[in-house]
Amino acid sequence: MIYDIIIIGGGTAGMTAAIYGTRAGKSVLILEGETPGGQIVNAAHVENYPGFKSISGADFAFNLFDQAKGLGAVFAYEAVTAIGDNGDTKTVTTQQNTYTSKSIIIAAGAKNRPLGLEDEERLTGRGISYCATCDGNFFRDKVTAVVGGGNTALEDALFLSNVCKQVYLIHRRDSFRGEQHRVDLLREKQNVTFLLNARVTKLFGEDQLHTIAIQQEETEKTLDIDGLFVAIGQIPQNQIFANLVDLDQGGYIIADEACRTKTKGIFAAGDCRAKTIRQLSTATADGTIAALSAAQVE
Ligand code: NAP
Repeated sequence: MIYDIIIIGGGTAGMTAAIYGTRAGKSVLILEGETPGGQIVNAAHVENYPGFKSISGADFAFNLFDQAKGLGAVFAYEAVTAIGDNGDTKTVTTQQNTYTSKSIIIAAGAKNRPLGLEDEERLTGRGISYCATCDGNFFRDKVTAVVGGGNTALEDALFLSNVCKQVYLIHRRDSFRGEQHRVDLLREKQNVTFLLNARVTKLFGEDQLHTIAIQQEETEKTLDIDGLFVAIGQIPQNQIFANLVDLDQGGYIIADEACRTKTKGIFAAGDCRAKTIRQLSTATADGTIAALSAAQVE
């Protein structure tokens, strides 16, 4: 079968594209290497998506999934390894299959950025986590630290402050990229300590992380903690598409206002696309635009 549109990635942008694509009367296949939903699944509360005062990230993602599936989008849980261009048709290869379509929307999102410290990988799942809402409850009444200064770090610290005995928020600057409203809420918490102009420099632990070293301005110190939550943004994973799309210096896909890449019939949407603002609302906007552009491909 030749699909009209194959969407790579079942996050917010991808599932929005599926909704618009199916409603335009197109056959749509979504390929997702993990579970559908993307990064927003990990957000405890979404309170800045227009029309919803508050909704959990998991509910938001499930609603999108339910809507896309109900409209006839086909989901396959396969990781994409390559894409190809034969002119009027495109191919998408996964670890299991090769699919053919008239157009491709790359909505592959981005993955968590690691601190890049020695032993970080070894201690992941052993005291180091990239998802507070997933793992926070393992640290009930314990001491944790969150690294980062964006909304994810602020939200993680708020979530953990309701679970943990003590939470340190470690940020490399003294002002935050995340919303001031969240910073203010954190400042009111008795069990949250801000460590600003500070960087984690070393991790200690054999089977389990127990201590971190911190460089704060001119001072070096160690902190005994049970859990470290890393929330320092994302990095794209677009190298496998680089044969057919241009990437910017950060590895994000360059696409125009209609989400068109340099290859006719291949579009990019959401966090994987080069842009300055990455929000839930911009992901849905991209998904919409990419699908309506792809729907015009004959
Ligand atoms: P982000 O906004 O890119 O913030 C990343 C933070 O990590 C920045 O404060 C950055 O510091 C810091 N950082 C980056 N590399 C670092 C390194 N190597 N060492 C130490 N610190 C480092 O990422 P995010 O917080 O994951 O948010 C991503 C997007 O999702 C944002 O647009 C955000 O608003 C959105 N979001 C929304 C919600 C919500 O509305 N519920 C929740 C979470 C995220 P600098 O500031 O110094 O660069």
